[in-house]
Amino acid sequence: MFHDRNSARELVAALPRGLYIDGAWRESSTGASFPVHDPADATVLTEVADASLDDAMDALTAAHATQDAWGATTSRFRAELLRRAFGRIIERTEDFAALISLEMGKPLAEARGEVAYGAEFLRWFSEQAAHLTGSYAPAPNGGYRIVTTKVPVGPSLLITPWNFPLAMATRKIGAALAAGCTCVVKPAPQTPLTLALLTQIFHELEVPAGVVNYVPTLDAAALSLALMSDARLRKVSFTGSTGVGSILLRQAADRVLRTSMELGGNGPFVVFDDADLDAAVDGAMLAKMRNAGESCVAANRFLVHSDIAEEFTVRLVRRFEGLVAGDAFDPASTVGPLIDEAQLAKVTDLVDDAVAQGARLRTGGKTFGGDGHFFQPTVLTDVPDTARLAYEEIFGPVAAITTFDTEEQALARANDTEYGLAGYVYTRDISRALRFAERLETGMVGVNRGLVSDPGGPFGGVKASGQGREGGATGIEEYLETKYLAVEM
Ligand code: NAD
Repeated sequence: MFHDRNSARELVAALPRGLYIDGAWRESSTGASFPVHDPADATVLTEVADASLDDAMDALTAAHATQDAWGATTSRFRAELLRRAFGRIIERTEDFAALISLEMGKPLAEARGEVAYGAEFLRWFSEQAAHLTGSYAPAPNGGYRIVTTKVPVGPSLLITPWNFPLAMATRKIGAALAAGCTCVVKPAPQTPLTLALLTQIFHELEVPAGVVNYVPTLDAAALSLALMSDARLRKVSFTGSTGVGSILLRQAADRVLRTSMELGGNGPFVVFDDADLDAAVDGAMLAKMRNAGESCVAANRFLVHSDIAEEFTVRLVRRFEGLVAGDAFDPASTVGPLIDEAQLAKVTDLVDDAVAQGARLRTGGKTFGGDGHFFQPTVLTDVPDTARLAYEEIFGPVAAITTFDTEEQALARANDTEYGLAGYVYTRDISRALRFAERLETGMVGVNRGLVSDPGGPFGGVKASGQGREGGATGIEEYLETKYLAVEM
């Protein structure tokens, strides 16, 4: 059924509000809970249980207790379960989309897109699970044989962000389960509801107790430190800010834990003078405005050849002014609110700072919408290199445009950042496109394309944007160890 805001709130009221540990829903051991807010008007949607350290330990105990049995299931069994979960999410697209829109704020049409994208990770990893391979080879200098096989890493802590509450969870859970790992999943406190529904689906599908444990909490730092200090945990996978990622890497070093880190970005979007401008503007809208700019692969810096910069800007401003920022449940809305007060304050500060330093405001620039966290789609030109938004992740609907004259200049500027997640290049010259893409210091490059996210592609960054790849042919490897047997003949 299609939801409006009222029926979506009824859906929330029917969701479990507890923790899911060892196959059962339960209250927090302290009885504590925390509110989940609607970013459109800052009202409270519901309260969910706030996991204590004891709860977290129970979750790990359950994950550890069932690890051997889960790891020993056939990969076909795990593949079938994931495939059924994919189907169930698709059947409930409208429910998932409503929850995502309600707690995260993106318009329903975009939320449906996330449901399709998020579900696809489970189908992708179901296919990966069924294709695990090993090898058998003669030792180069001896009569024995070198045999390799893959084994699951073990119980994994999966920490997800609020910007894609379903897709960031399925990208981790799908890979972990396919590989034969059990997990403890900690959603972002802003968006635990989508994951509650996903957990309910795993329960309905009779995923064995302890395989997926769901522990929302307000104290992520204490919970993750406690879990990561416990010898039974073998891996942590995190998506979020570089600041928190580096704290987790330091903590992981103490126990030499396996890690996957998908961190912040500062994506350059480079448009050469021979680019197809219509395609470049379409791509810019996707790369900048998907999720209201609250995406780690968002274009953060537009570098446009000076000969076409004004034309590109005029067209982009026209498109930005055609966007309708409003209620996610209004079919006319094309941009939602930002996630919370802190994010709104950060985006406002970044824009004010750039304007104070001489950037030209071409459209937008203001908050609006009462208690909601709305920021106008904004275009700035003449942004000085010293402006904070030239080197900080904006995570909002703000396009900052600067110009360049030569390819070398564009490359140097694009790479002049500590980050390296996604970059974009637009040119009709295929040699230049490939040459530029190869030298761009990012894990992913959109070549004449404004969207790189795809379950079939290896998602991840270089430099301070993280390590490891999620999805793609190698995504499952993040949860596998290669085991080598030396077999005497
Ligand atoms: P964050 O990094 O603080 O939060 C992401 C996740 O980590 C959440 O689940 C949070 O509860 C958890 N977390 C926070 N502190 C932790 C700690 N010490 N130990 C373990 N887990 C911890 O991000 P945020 O505060 O929600 O957003 C701040 C900025 O981070 C954004 O402006 C954006 O730049 C960036 N961000 C990036 C992504 C991404 O997809 N790479 C996603 C969300 C936010």
